[in-house]
Amino acid sequence: MDLLAPFSRKIIAPLWATWERSLYLRHYNCMLRTQFDSPKQIKVKQETLLKSIITHAYRTTQFWKERLETAGIHPDEVNQLADLSRLPLLTKNDLRAHGERMVSSAYNKAELHLKRTSGSTGVPVQVYVDDDAGQFKRGATLRADEWSGWRLGDRKAIIWGNPAGELRMHTWRGRLRNRLLERTVFLDCLDADETSFENFAILLRKLQPKLLFGHAHSLYLFARYLQSHGPEDIRPRGIISAAMVLHDWERQTIEDVFQCPVTNRYGCEEVSLIACECERHNGLHINSDGIAVEILRPDGTAANPGEPGMIIVTDLVNHAMPIIRYKIGDMGSLADHTCPCGRGLPLLNDIQGRVADYIVTPDGKYVSGISLTDHFNTKIPGVVQMQIIQEEIDRFVFRIVKDTEFGPASQKKIHGLVSEHFGEGVRYECEFVNRIPQEASGKYRFCISKVDKVFEHVQ
Ligand SMILES: [Zn+2]
Repeated sequence: MDLLAPFSRKIIAPLWATWERSLYLRHYNCMLRTQFDSPKQIKVKQETLLKSIITHAYRTTQFWKERLETAGIHPDEVNQLADLSRLPLLTKNDLRAHGERMVSSAYNKAELHLKRTSGSTGVPVQVYVDDDAGQFKRGATLRADEWSGWRLGDRKAIIWGNPAGELRMHTWRGRLRNRLLERTVFLDCLDADETSFENFAILLRKLQPKLLFGHAHSLYLFARYLQSHGPEDIRPRGIISAAMVLHDWERQTIEDVFQCPVTNRYGCEEVSLIACECERHNGLHINSDGIAVEILRPDGTAANPGEPGMIIVTDLVNHAMPIIRYKIGDMGSLADHTCPCGRGLPLLNDIQGRVADYIVTPDGKYVSGISLTDHFNTKIPGVVQMQIIQEEIDRFVFRIVKDTEFGPASQKKIHGLVSEHFGEGVRYECEFVNRIPQEASGKYRFCISKVDKVFEHVQ
């Protein structure tokens, strides 16, 4: 029995928060109640926050003053979420080119938190976050993490890129905090091999952490290792997959191995948590306390529920550097159902990956890279893993990790699938590799399109 868990939750966490002068637990406790507000109440609160952030952005940043004036909009005219559609979209290039002019004059930049993205889409960006917003986001993330079944104070196991750095394990304060509060053991997925998987498995068997957290594919690879090598009795109460699209085949394997449902969580460095599944796993509840989400068609109009489109987010709490109508570069759709859990927070159906991961066929069709790789993986005999790269509109490279079942029938199947999905006359080549390489952040991408797309040009 883990006697430290309730002590950590009830005593250490509040004391540490007091010492840090952090209000995240207060926000968390408040959000435990407000998550059951009606959708109408939630919308009213969002509109109050929206009005406040637009007015603040206009008054205290050069960038937003000019943007709104150029668009012919005064903050007094923005009263409802629907009014957002009158504002221009904010791109990663805007953040990169004008980031400094987006920082509010109401803050001293030296006191702000700086968030940097890894730039895996080719455009690294940085965002300043004020402390109040940071604590609010921390409370919201804690609430969502607990939907997995894990509770604050319980042990965690993390598979991530450079987790020791994130936990500040190089400082005495970081180590103490981890021992008493974070209670995290980790595996660096940038440095994972059979030996590190084996050592990690032995450690998890002994500690039996209540939460397993990581990139979808890293969790999957670890589950596959356990399938063939054991042990079979690592039993977390919750598993959170974050920072990457979770494929159905990955979810299935992870759930089979750990006998525990996977909670899919979606967010980004620029605005933190965007949406997360609850214990019903019926779509991802949007973190509407601090975020407004729109789903747009290529022409910029709002998509209907169930219709995939570009995900656009507005950060309703970060006053240090207002992020309004930000085009993250991912595709997803709003759900047209409610969740039986009773939470009023609206739902996203699923996240379909980056716009850059969509294939555009020679006849102009858009095909989700996620569903495509799922389809190819399951249909071709002998394919353990596959990465699809669209080099040109009519030329593909398939990187394949194969096993002994791969043979002429597999080649024939690939040919058939290419004709069926991309059209006759499309060229392709197969490259056989031992493993699909990771990106610098530790994430994997299974479908990469290097072809320009109309979605990427909407402004
Ligand atoms: Zn729910």
